[in-house]
Amino acid sequence: MAASIIDFHCDTLSLLLRQGGTLFRRPQGQVDTKRMRQAGVALQVFAMFSHPNSVNGHLADALLMAELFWQAVDAGYIVPVLWREDLSALNQTPGGLLSIEGGEPLGTDVRMLEAFYRIGVRVVGLTWNGGNALADGVEVHAAGGLTPLGKEFVAEMNRLGMLVDVSHLAELGFWQVAELCRGPFIASHSNCRAVCPHARNLSDDQLRAIAASGGVVGINLYPRFLTQNVVATSADVIRHAEHMLSVMGRGHVGLGSDFDGIGITPSDLPDVGALPYLAEQLTRYFGAEIAWEIMGGAFMRLLQESLPLRHGSKRG
Ligand SMILES: [Zn+2]
Repeated sequence: MAASIIDFHCDTLSLLLRQGGTLFRRPQGQVDTKRMRQAGVALQVFAMFSHPNSVNGHLADALLMAELFWQAVDAGYIVPVLWREDLSALNQTPGGLLSIEGGEPLGTDVRMLEAFYRIGVRVVGLTWNGGNALADGVEVHAAGGLTPLGKEFVAEMNRLGMLVDVSHLAELGFWQVAELCRGPFIASHSNCRAVCPHARNLSDDQLRAIAASGGVVGINLYPRFLTQNVVATSADVIRHAEHMLSVMGRGHVGLGSDFDGIGITPSDLPDVGALPYLAEQLTRYFGAEIAWEIMGGAFMRLLQESLPLRHGSKRG
């Protein structure tokens, strides 16, 4: 089958950092380059997430995760996607794109964004669940919004052509990002609060704001975000997709599996190898056209519109 799946979030690099191994040789886990290729994954976004209790320090963690990514590139197992032109060159070898989940590695100097841009990062979520120098995450009690520095970071991301990812960001910060972003912004791995009332899920107003920006929301496969039980199946993914489509319209619903960041998965979606099965289930319910928008088309459209051009003049 033609490679056309795009998954906008996995935590594989973070897991490799702690457990050892490489993207193309790992004894366990939910994602590796072999299964990505077999499943027909065209593009995987690899998040660099440094745990709050990091031993190495957040900057070292991020650099080591970027190194794992670039080792897989050098070994020929993934093709780096840095520029808009790279999208049309994707073939059987899965593409990889780097994101940052939680701005801690960026410290407090806005110039760090361009440093990480050069390493290949094109997507940044300002926070994980806690707070930092940039903003508060969803688990902060009486969470505030973006700090003045956080606002500066968003402005610089706009200038560079990096996507702002609002998954994990507390609601006040979400609305500030919505106001500050000149183009589309995304929630790489978040579901609907109307279907499953969890703090990590988005309200209908938030979903509408992302769609209005031209952005995309990636459906998260974590059972706790899909249902109020710990048990979920692909049918629950369909319930979230249906609600998102009804609120946001076509072209704004994608996939952000969260594989390797979730200890439990839907019973019929254990790892990246199950994504073709998910595509089948979505096709049976929505028809092929909408199913493939969700499996990759929506994020592909977004990247075609928003990734910087290799020879562009976007970076002013
Ligand atoms: Zn996450």
